[in-house]
Amino acid sequence: MRLFHSEKRECEDCHAVFASYDEMVQHAHEVHKKHIVKCSECGKLFLHEKDRLHHVREENERKVDVRRHKFKK
Ligand SMILES: [Zn+2]
Ligand SMILES: [Zn+2]
Repeated sequence: MRLFHSEKRECEDCHAVFASYDEMVQHAHEVHKKHIVKCSECGKLFLHEKDRLHHVREENERKVDVRRHKFKK
């Protein structure tokens, strides 16, 4: 199970590594003035719209919980 393989904690600009994705986003926002997007469900912050969409999809899947990640790439 590698649900969080897409969660990166390294800053894209200065390559500093953080303890959590959230800290990295905060850093990018404050230091590099990056635009961030917010999950309307839980308030989690993201650097990219696609990251947020991915998170929202996982959140919804968890909520539904009918079948667990059956898609294979
Ligand atoms: Zn940085
Ligand atoms: Zn959320």
